[in-house]
Amino acid sequence: METIIELIGEFLGVVVDLAIDLVFPRRCPICDGPLRPGKLVHPECEKKMVPITKNYCLKCGRPIKDGEAEYCVDCAGKERHFDEGRVAFEYADLSRTMYRFKYSHKPEYGEYLGMKTAEALKKELRLWDADAIIPIPIHKNRKKIRGYNQAEILAKSIGKHAHIPVVTSLVKRVVDTPKLKDLNPAERQNCLKNSFKLTVDDVKLKKIILVDDIYTTGSTIDTVAGELKEHGVRSVYFVTITAGNG
Ligand SMILES: [Zn+2]
Ligand SMILES: [Zn+2]
Repeated sequence: METIIELIGEFLGVVVDLAIDLVFPRRCPICDGPLRPGKLVHPECEKKMVPITKNYCLKCGRPIKDGEAEYCVDCAGKERHFDEGRVAFEYADLSRTMYRFKYSHKPEYGEYLGMKTAEALKKELRLWDADAIIPIPIHKNRKKIRGYNQAEILAKSIGKHAHIPVVTSLVKRVVDTPKLKDLNPAERQNCLKNSFKLTVDDVKLKKIILVDDIYTTGSTIDTVAGELKEHGVRSVYFVTITAGNG
């Protein structure tokens, strides 16, 4: 009897999901148009996800124009705390997607974008052999306003598809938006550093992959990487969906 009730319950769950899909269709992450039930993207839109497979900086993964150079202008001659990072997709057709994912209440995009990122960077994710994935945190006030942390949704999808545990309790953002505008580079760095705190002194994880939605200057990722290394982490890698023009 119980199994019949369970089966009916499960069946009703599926019916309810389908009904919700019909009334509030899931939106395509690329064009924001409605999707057929059960679909994550339009087949024609999927073609706009162009993976970065060559001409990228060997340190941060950002595309570089000069096909001969190994490092981008930011990474050449600069010490980085992170070991290596990769950017999964070209920015051109994703700029609006990234904006909506962050600012227009589209947490649902994360499942697809994370799956595609895990797929595109399968080789690196396996090679790095990390103990955990950690999303770049946002301040709790911001999360309350936005309703979610897009990096966290993304990290969970990547973790699910790459079979790597996701840890969200270790790194906290304790300052909402540091006022960086009027500061010199050293003051900026210090200000950013004070924005993040670890919840334990001695981190047991040895290899970590940080996840963020978009790479701009890399200073946030590098700050968190430095903090982790100061507390016992040996290697810090990162992945982002794309890299903005910043
Ligand atoms: Zn579409
Ligand atoms: Zn670089």
